[in-house]
Amino acid sequence: MKELRYAVVGHPIEHSRSPEIHLAFAKQEGIELRYERILAPLDGFKAVAKDFFEAGGSGLNITLPFKGDAYEFVDERTERAQAALAVNTISILPNGKLLGDNTDGVGIVSDILNNLDCPLIARRVLILGAGGAVRGVLQPILAQLPLSVTIANRNLDRAKALVSQFEGYQIDILSYAELAGHEFDVIINGTSSSLHNELPPIPKGIFTEKTLAYDMVYGAGLTEFLKRAQSEKAGILADGLGMLVEQAAASYEIWRGYKPETRSITNALREQLA
Ligand code: NDP
Repeated sequence: MKELRYAVVGHPIEHSRSPEIHLAFAKQEGIELRYERILAPLDGFKAVAKDFFEAGGSGLNITLPFKGDAYEFVDERTERAQAALAVNTISILPNGKLLGDNTDGVGIVSDILNNLDCPLIARRVLILGAGGAVRGVLQPILAQLPLSVTIANRNLDRAKALVSQFEGYQIDILSYAELAGHEFDVIINGTSSSLHNELPPIPKGIFTEKTLAYDMVYGAGLTEFLKRAQSEKAGILADGLGMLVEQAAASYEIWRGYKPETRSITNALREQLA
Protein backbone atom coordinates (compact mmCIF):
# COMPACT_ATOMS: atom_id res chain seq x y z
CA MET A 1 0.00 0.00 0.00
CA LYS A 2 1.20 3.52 -0.80
CA GLU A 3 2.70 5.32 2.18
CA LEU A 4 0.68 8.36 3.23
CA ARG A 5 3.13 11.24 3.24
CA TYR A 6 2.24 14.79 4.22
CA ALA A 7 4.36 17.83 5.09
CA VAL A 8 4.33 21.51 5.97
CA VAL A 9 6.58 23.87 4.01
CA GLY A 10 7.74 27.19 5.41
CA HIS A 11 10.71 29.41 6.17
CA PRO A 12 11.45 29.22 9.06
CA ILE A 13 9.80 25.90 9.89
CA GLU A 14 11.39 24.42 13.06
CA HIS A 15 8.74 26.08 15.24
CA SER A 16 5.82 24.45 13.38
CA ARG A 17 3.48 22.38 15.53
CA SER A 18 1.75 20.87 12.50
CA PRO A 19 3.53 17.47 12.60
CA GLU A 20 2.43 16.68 16.17
CA ILE A 21 -1.11 17.90 15.47
CA HIS A 22 -1.51 15.80 12.31
CA LEU A 23 0.07 12.73 13.92
CA ALA A 24 -2.45 13.05 16.74
CA PHE A 25 -5.28 13.22 14.16
CA ALA A 26 -3.92 10.10 12.45
CA LYS A 27 -3.79 8.28 15.79
CA GLN A 28 -7.46 9.18 16.34
CA GLU A 29 -8.33 7.85 12.89
CA GLY A 30 -6.29 4.73 13.57
CA ILE A 31 -3.97 5.06 10.57
CA GLU A 32 -0.25 5.56 10.03
CA LEU A 33 1.13 8.51 8.12
CA ARG A 34 4.32 10.50 7.81
CA TYR A 35 4.21 14.25 8.32
CA GLU A 36 7.44 16.22 7.90
CA ARG A 37 8.60 19.79 8.23
CA ILE A 38 10.25 21.05 5.04
CA LEU A 39 12.37 24.20 5.02
CA ALA A 40 12.21 25.72 1.53
CA PRO A 41 14.61 28.45 0.38
CA LEU A 42 12.85 31.81 0.18
CA ASP A 43 12.83 31.67 -3.64
CA GLY A 44 12.36 27.92 -3.81
CA PHE A 45 8.81 26.99 -2.80
CA LYS A 46 7.64 25.78 -6.20
CA ALA A 47 10.60 23.44 -6.75
CA VAL A 48 10.17 21.95 -3.29
CA ALA A 49 6.42 21.43 -3.74
CA LYS A 50 6.88 19.91 -7.21
CA ASP A 51 9.51 17.45 -5.91
CA PHE A 52 7.26 16.55 -2.98
CA PHE A 53 4.31 15.57 -5.15
CA GLU A 54 6.48 13.89 -7.80
CA ALA A 55 7.96 11.74 -5.04
CA GLY A 56 4.46 10.52 -4.11
CA GLY A 57 3.46 13.07 -1.46
CA SER A 58 -0.25 12.97 -0.58
CA GLY A 59 -0.86 16.51 0.66
CA LEU A 60 0.92 19.67 1.71
CA ASN A 61 0.40 22.43 4.22
CA ILE A 62 1.97 25.80 3.53
CA THR A 63 2.93 28.38 6.10
CA LEU A 64 4.67 31.76 6.02
CA PRO A 65 5.94 33.14 3.72
CA PHE A 66 4.78 30.80 0.95
CA LYS A 67 0.96 30.97 0.97
CA GLY A 68 0.98 33.31 -2.05
CA ASP A 69 3.52 31.13 -3.91
CA ALA A 70 1.32 28.11 -3.20
CA TYR A 71 -1.66 30.00 -4.62
CA GLU A 72 0.22 30.41 -7.91
CA PHE A 73 1.62 26.87 -7.87
CA VAL A 74 -1.64 24.87 -7.76
CA ASP A 75 -3.73 23.90 -10.78
CA GLU A 76 -7.10 24.80 -9.23
CA ARG A 77 -8.25 26.89 -6.28
CA THR A 78 -11.29 26.72 -4.02
CA GLU A 79 -13.50 29.77 -3.63
CA ARG A 80 -12.14 30.51 -0.17
CA ALA A 81 -8.54 30.27 -1.44
CA GLN A 82 -9.49 32.73 -4.18
CA ALA A 83 -10.93 35.15 -1.61
CA ALA A 84 -7.77 34.84 0.48
CA LEU A 85 -5.42 34.92 -2.54
CA ALA A 86 -3.48 32.41 -0.46
CA VAL A 87 -3.27 28.64 -0.13
CA ASN A 88 -2.36 26.76 3.04
CA THR A 89 -3.53 23.27 2.00
CA ILE A 90 -2.84 21.38 -1.22
CA SER A 91 -4.61 18.12 -2.02
CA ILE A 92 -4.62 15.89 -5.09
CA LEU A 93 -7.85 15.72 -7.09
CA PRO A 94 -9.02 12.39 -8.56
CA ASN A 95 -7.78 13.57 -11.99
CA GLY A 96 -4.29 14.15 -10.56
CA LYS A 97 -4.49 17.96 -10.54
CA LEU A 98 -3.45 19.88 -7.43
CA LEU A 99 -6.18 21.75 -5.57
CA GLY A 100 -5.31 24.72 -3.36
CA ASP A 101 -7.52 25.54 -0.40
CA ASN A 102 -7.31 27.91 2.55
CA THR A 103 -8.46 26.67 5.95
CA ASP A 104 -7.27 29.61 8.10
CA GLY A 105 -10.66 31.32 7.93
CA VAL A 106 -12.73 28.27 8.78
CA GLY A 107 -10.17 27.57 11.50
CA ILE A 108 -10.75 30.82 13.33
CA VAL A 109 -14.52 30.75 12.77
CA SER A 110 -14.77 27.19 14.05
CA ASP A 111 -12.69 28.09 17.12
CA ILE A 112 -14.85 31.13 17.89
CA LEU A 113 -18.20 29.42 17.27
CA ASN A 114 -17.62 25.91 18.57
CA ASN A 115 -14.82 26.13 21.13
CA LEU A 116 -15.48 29.59 22.53
CA ASP A 117 -19.23 29.34 22.07
CA CYS A 118 -19.43 32.84 20.70
CA PRO A 119 -21.75 33.41 17.72
CA LEU A 120 -20.68 36.00 15.15
CA ILE A 121 -24.12 36.57 13.68
CA ALA A 122 -25.40 40.09 14.40
CA ARG A 123 -22.23 40.99 16.35
CA ARG A 124 -20.05 44.07 15.90
CA VAL A 125 -16.69 42.69 14.77
CA LEU A 126 -13.45 44.66 14.74
CA ILE A 127 -10.42 43.22 12.99
CA LEU A 128 -7.00 44.76 13.59
CA GLY A 129 -4.54 44.46 10.70
CA ALA A 130 -4.78 44.22 6.94
CA GLY A 131 -2.12 41.67 6.03
CA GLY A 132 -2.30 38.15 4.66
CA ALA A 133 -3.78 36.66 7.83
CA VAL A 134 -6.73 39.08 7.80
CA ARG A 135 -7.34 38.58 4.09
CA GLY A 136 -7.43 34.83 4.79
CA VAL A 137 -10.13 35.05 7.44
CA LEU A 138 -12.35 37.86 6.15
CA GLN A 139 -14.66 35.88 3.88
CA PRO A 140 -15.54 33.12 6.40
CA ILE A 141 -16.19 35.82 9.03
CA LEU A 142 -18.41 37.80 6.66
CA ALA A 143 -20.27 34.57 5.86
CA GLN A 144 -21.39 34.45 9.51
CA LEU A 145 -23.44 37.62 8.90
CA PRO A 146 -22.08 39.88 11.63
CA LEU A 147 -23.91 43.15 12.22
CA SER A 148 -20.80 45.05 11.15
CA VAL A 149 -17.18 44.39 10.26
CA THR A 150 -14.63 47.13 10.83
CA ILE A 151 -10.97 46.97 9.90
CA ALA A 152 -8.35 49.14 11.58
CA ASN A 153 -4.79 49.30 10.35
CA ARG A 154 -1.87 51.70 10.73
CA ASN A 155 -1.46 51.83 6.96
CA LEU A 156 -4.94 52.82 5.77
CA ASP A 157 -4.09 52.43 2.08
CA ARG A 158 -3.37 48.77 2.75
CA ALA A 159 -6.74 48.41 4.49
CA LYS A 160 -8.50 50.10 1.56
CA ALA A 161 -6.76 47.83 -0.96
CA LEU A 162 -7.83 44.80 1.06
CA VAL A 163 -11.45 45.89 1.35
CA SER A 164 -11.63 46.65 -2.38
CA GLN A 165 -11.10 42.91 -3.00
CA PHE A 166 -14.35 42.12 -1.17
CA GLU A 167 -16.85 43.72 -3.50
CA GLY A 168 -20.46 43.65 -2.41
CA TYR A 169 -19.67 43.50 1.31
CA GLN A 170 -20.00 46.38 3.74
CA ILE A 171 -16.66 46.62 5.54
CA ASP A 172 -15.82 49.80 7.43
CA ILE A 173 -12.30 51.12 7.71
CA LEU A 174 -11.17 53.22 10.65
CA SER A 175 -7.80 54.47 11.78
CA TYR A 176 -6.78 53.38 15.26
CA ALA A 177 -7.48 56.89 16.58
CA GLU A 178 -10.97 56.81 15.06
CA LEU A 179 -11.84 53.70 17.09
CA ALA A 180 -12.19 55.90 20.17
CA GLY A 181 -15.81 56.04 21.29
CA HIS A 182 -16.77 52.77 19.54
CA GLU A 183 -17.41 49.46 21.27
CA PHE A 184 -17.22 45.99 19.71
CA ASP A 185 -18.51 42.53 20.58
CA VAL A 186 -15.60 40.70 18.98
CA ILE A 187 -12.11 42.16 18.50
CA ILE A 188 -9.63 40.05 16.55
CA ASN A 189 -5.98 41.01 16.56
CA GLY A 190 -4.82 39.91 13.11
CA THR A 191 -1.64 42.02 13.24
CA SER A 192 1.78 40.56 13.92
CA SER A 193 2.29 43.02 16.82
CA SER A 194 2.20 40.23 19.42
CA LEU A 195 5.18 38.52 17.81
CA HIS A 196 7.19 41.60 18.85
CA ASN A 197 5.52 41.99 22.26
CA GLU A 198 3.84 45.15 21.05
CA LEU A 199 0.30 46.42 21.36
CA PRO A 200 -1.50 47.83 18.30
CA PRO A 201 -2.32 51.50 19.04
CA ILE A 202 -5.92 50.83 20.11
CA PRO A 203 -7.59 53.50 22.23
CA LYS A 204 -9.05 52.62 25.61
CA GLY A 205 -12.75 51.84 25.89
CA ILE A 206 -13.35 49.61 22.85
CA PHE A 207 -13.84 46.42 24.92
CA THR A 208 -16.99 45.70 26.91
CA GLU A 209 -17.51 43.06 29.56
CA LYS A 210 -19.07 40.87 26.88
CA THR A 211 -16.34 41.35 24.25
CA LEU A 212 -14.42 38.39 22.89
CA ALA A 213 -10.79 39.50 22.53
CA TYR A 214 -9.04 37.14 20.12
CA ASP A 215 -5.34 37.26 19.24
CA MET A 216 -4.32 35.17 16.21
CA VAL A 217 -0.86 34.80 17.75
CA TYR A 218 -0.44 32.23 20.51
CA GLY A 219 2.16 31.63 23.18
CA ALA A 220 2.80 30.67 26.77
CA GLY A 221 1.25 33.73 28.41
CA LEU A 222 -1.10 36.56 27.51
CA THR A 223 -0.02 38.74 24.57
CA GLU A 224 0.13 42.53 25.02
CA PHE A 225 -3.23 42.76 23.24
CA LEU A 226 -4.83 40.21 25.56
CA LYS A 227 -3.29 41.93 28.60
CA ARG A 228 -4.95 45.19 27.52
CA ALA A 229 -8.25 43.36 26.96
CA GLN A 230 -7.96 41.79 30.40
CA SER A 231 -7.21 45.15 32.01
CA GLU A 232 -10.38 46.49 30.38
CA LYS A 233 -12.37 43.49 31.66
CA ALA A 234 -13.18 41.99 28.26
CA GLY A 235 -15.50 39.00 28.72
CA ILE A 236 -13.49 36.30 26.89
CA LEU A 237 -9.78 36.18 26.10
CA ALA A 238 -8.47 33.75 23.49
CA ASP A 239 -5.25 33.28 21.57
CA GLY A 240 -4.68 31.64 18.18
CA LEU A 241 -3.84 28.13 19.39
CA GLY A 242 -7.41 26.99 18.80
CA MET A 243 -7.30 28.49 15.30
CA LEU A 244 -4.07 26.63 14.59
CA VAL A 245 -5.58 23.28 15.56
CA GLU A 246 -8.90 23.96 13.81
CA GLN A 247 -7.25 24.97 10.52
CA ALA A 248 -5.15 21.80 10.74
CA ALA A 249 -8.30 19.72 11.38
CA ALA A 250 -9.94 21.25 8.30
CA SER A 251 -6.85 20.35 6.24
CA TYR A 252 -6.91 16.82 7.57
CA GLU A 253 -10.57 16.47 6.67
CA ILE A 254 -9.85 17.64 3.11
CA TRP A 255 -7.13 15.00 2.74
CA ARG A 256 -8.66 12.10 4.61
CA GLY A 257 -12.42 12.75 4.74
CA TYR A 258 -12.12 12.25 8.50
CA LYS A 259 -13.07 15.01 10.95
CA PRO A 260 -10.76 14.89 13.97
CA GLU A 261 -11.79 15.79 17.51
CA THR A 262 -9.75 18.88 18.35
CA ARG A 263 -10.33 19.88 21.95
CA SER A 264 -8.07 17.25 23.55
CA ILE A 265 -5.27 18.16 21.14
CA THR A 266 -5.56 21.89 21.81
CA ASN A 267 -5.52 21.15 25.56
CA ALA A 268 -2.39 18.98 25.24
CA LEU A 269 -0.62 21.68 23.20
CA ARG A 270 -1.66 24.29 25.75
CA GLU A 271 -0.04 22.26 28.52
CA GLN A 272 3.15 21.95 26.50
CA LEU A 273 3.23 25.71 25.86
CA ALA A 274 2.87 26.42 29.58
P1 NDP B 1 1.59 40.54 7.44
O1 NDP B 1 3.04 40.82 7.53
O2 NDP B 1 0.98 40.25 6.11
O3 NDP B 1 0.77 41.78 8.07
C1 NDP B 1 1.12 42.30 9.29
C2 NDP B 1 0.01 43.21 9.81
O4 NDP B 1 0.33 43.53 11.16
C3 NDP B 1 -0.15 44.51 9.06
O5 NDP B 1 -1.52 44.84 9.05
C4 NDP B 1 0.64 45.50 9.92
O6 NDP B 1 0.15 46.82 9.85
C5 NDP B 1 0.33 44.96 11.29
N1 NDP B 1 1.29 45.29 12.35
C6 NDP B 1 2.51 44.78 12.55
N2 NDP B 1 3.05 45.27 13.69
C7 NDP B 1 2.11 46.12 14.22
C8 NDP B 1 2.07 46.94 15.39
N3 NDP B 1 3.09 46.98 16.26
N4 NDP B 1 0.96 47.66 15.62
C9 NDP B 1 -0.08 47.62 14.75
N5 NDP B 1 -0.09 46.86 13.63
C10 NDP B 1 0.99 46.12 13.37
O7 NDP B 1 1.34 39.35 8.47
P2 NDP B 1 0.16 38.28 8.43
O8 NDP B 1 -1.10 38.99 8.15
O9 NDP B 1 0.54 37.15 7.54
O10 NDP B 1 0.16 37.66 9.92
C11 NDP B 1 -0.36 38.37 11.05
C12 NDP B 1 -0.31 37.48 12.28
O11 NDP B 1 -1.27 36.42 12.22
C13 NDP B 1 1.06 36.81 12.44
O12 NDP B 1 1.51 37.16 13.72
C14 NDP B 1 0.78 35.32 12.35
O13 NDP B 1 1.59 34.60 13.24
C15 NDP B 1 -0.69 35.23 12.74
N6 NDP B 1 -1.37 34.04 12.16
C16 NDP B 1 -1.84 33.06 13.00
C17 NDP B 1 -2.47 31.92 12.50
C18 NDP B 1 -2.95 30.84 13.46
O14 NDP B 1 -3.27 29.73 13.01
N7 NDP B 1 -3.07 31.11 14.74
C19 NDP B 1 -2.65 31.72 11.05
C20 NDP B 1 -2.15 32.82 10.25
C21 NDP B 1 -1.51 33.92 10.81
P3 NDP B 1 0.62 47.87 8.71
O15 NDP B 1 0.02 47.39 7.41
O16 NDP B 1 0.02 49.13 9.17
O17 NDP B 1 2.11 47.84 8.71
